[in-house]
Amino acid sequence: MEDCLFCRIVAGRIPARKVFEDDEILAFHDINPARPVHLLVIPKRHITSLATVDDADIPVLGRMLAVANRLAAEQGSPDGFRVIINTGRIGHQEVQHLHTHIVGGPDPVGPMLKRV
Ligand code: 5GP
Ligand code: ZN
Repeated sequence: MEDCLFCRIVAGRIPARKVFEDDEILAFHDINPARPVHLLVIPKRHITSLATVDDADIPVLGRMLAVANRLAAEQGSPDGFRVIINTGRIGHQEVQHLHTHIVGGPDPVGPMLKRV
């Protein structure tokens, strides 16, 4: 996926502040953090979004969630965190490569959503 931003990060063609990687996933700091801790965890293999996953993606999805607690604690959010997966137009997904946001820090991140 030549034109995919996060595939370029996986390939090392765009720098990122990596905090973890294994053979299937990569985690790095969000370039524009919304909270003191704001990490992104992505599959190394291109998956467009949570709307396009299939059963073959179950292991990598599990891995993406399973690292969240350890990475949040290591990066400064030991007492909890929030995982967000924006999906598609309604979910306001801007980068079309599946990613979990891990947000946290010393203070609570606040209510889940503004009520409409
Ligand atoms: P989305 O809105 O798709 O859920 O979130 C995309 C996230 O990617 C945003 O929080 C944005 O700040 C982050 N982002 C966009 N471009 C880059 C980049 O080049 N490097 C890093 N590390 N994060 C990026
Ligand atoms: Zn990609």
